[in-house]
Amino acid sequence: MRASVAATDSWRDPDGIRSPAGEVHAWLPGTNQTLCGTPLRKARLGRFPHIDWRDVQPATGRDADRVASVCRKCAAGMGQRRDEKPWKRIDPRP
Ligand SMILES: [Zn+2]
Repeated sequence: MRASVAATDSWRDPDGIRSPAGEVHAWLPGTNQTLCGTPLRKARLGRFPHIDWRDVQPATGRDADRVASVCRKCAAGMGQRRDEKPWKRIDPRP
């Protein structure tokens, strides 16, 4: 699953790109809430359709400079064990 980012704050990086700051959530463009179910408008979250969720992970992401925290529910929902093989449906029929 590919997701973008919603965040409580924003800043402009050295390249002039609006980047997320503060607390970040996973957000699927086209929806009006985060992956964990927080309504964007109610929580005053900014949308970052041009930023990939993987790029705001503090350990590895290139757009994580100003990220203070990552929503745990969203992280769990996106799955953190990215070195594993993609999830596969097992057909129970004989
Ligand atoms: Zn969240």
